[in-house]
Amino acid sequence: MSASTSEGIALITGSSQGIGKAIAIRLASDGFEIAINDIPAKSLTLEATQKEIQELTGKRALICVGDVSVEEEVKGMIEEVVKSLGGIDVMVANAGICPCGPLNDVTLDEWERAFAVNVRGTFLCYKYASLQMIAQGRGGRLIGASSGGGKQGQRLMGLYSSTKFAIRGLTQSAALEYGKHGITVNAYCPGPIDTEMVRKAAQDVGGDTEKVLKMYAQMSAVGRIGNPADVANLVSFLASKHSEYLTGQTGSSKNDVESLLIVQLYNFNGYAMLMESRLRNPPTKLRLPSS
Ligand code: NAD
Repeated sequence: MSASTSEGIALITGSSQGIGKAIAIRLASDGFEIAINDIPAKSLTLEATQKEIQELTGKRALICVGDVSVEEEVKGMIEEVVKSLGGIDVMVANAGICPCGPLNDVTLDEWERAFAVNVRGTFLCYKYASLQMIAQGRGGRLIGASSGGGKQGQRLMGLYSSTKFAIRGLTQSAALEYGKHGITVNAYCPGPIDTEMVRKAAQDVGGDTEKVLKMYAQMSAVGRIGNPADVANLVSFLASKHSEYLTGQTGSSKNDVESLLIVQLYNFNGYAMLMESRLRNPPTKLRLPSS
């Protein structure tokens, strides 16, 4: 970690909104210098988020526009962060897309796009951030975004679930390779968190978004749907010096880090029933956000 009074330097991808934005705000409050990223179509939202971070924390976040599925853009983002902020200590590979729909409706283009953003994007973020961290010689934190769907397959979310399983394999393998450099690698695996992504997915699988969100809340052991700050609380710990001995955590045993926070709180049988009922009236098209 950085030797200055700052906690270090953190880049969070897909952070103009939702979970990424909450993580950026939280890490800035924790004392990190922050860089935020999203696709060009979200440039205005990124500027609004930059303003909000400054108002809430007094920190001016660096904006790095770019697509995480494009190698040169990820490389360029890391270079920009290093040049402007002086290095990189925490990489949160949060950007992702959530296509929903029956597996037999998935086209190869849709399959390739979801894997490009979710899996290739996470790989590129881990790769170029870790190369920089190794060169700096002061360790670091790589944090990925898997999902409850990365621990258990789900009806009408087969493509999304496949990408999130892949992120867990990547995270565990990276932890084994980078540990000797003082770099830890973990991923969060939330159940439903109330963001634009989950609302769109709820629409796709259940039709009435508010009804589906209410059902998620009822399925949760704590009686409410998660919010982005719940995930940011976990990432705050994973990014901190206190998580130094925790790495490769994405697994499904009862005591691993993400089950402590969110995943085991959800009753996946209930989720399967919801999907089952939707199968009787399936959505006709996959929904892939354009970037
Ligand atoms: P969101 O859709 O609100 O935000 C995702 C952001 O990623 C968007 O701003 C989007 O523009 C950006 N993005 C998409 N493609 C990109 C690309 N190629 N390059 C850069 N940025 C890109 O979603 P969210 O709910 O905040 O989810 C954040 C992460 O958490 C995702 O990886 C998601 O799969 C994961 N997750 C979310 C939930 C949930 O219930 N919301 C649950 C489990 C996991």
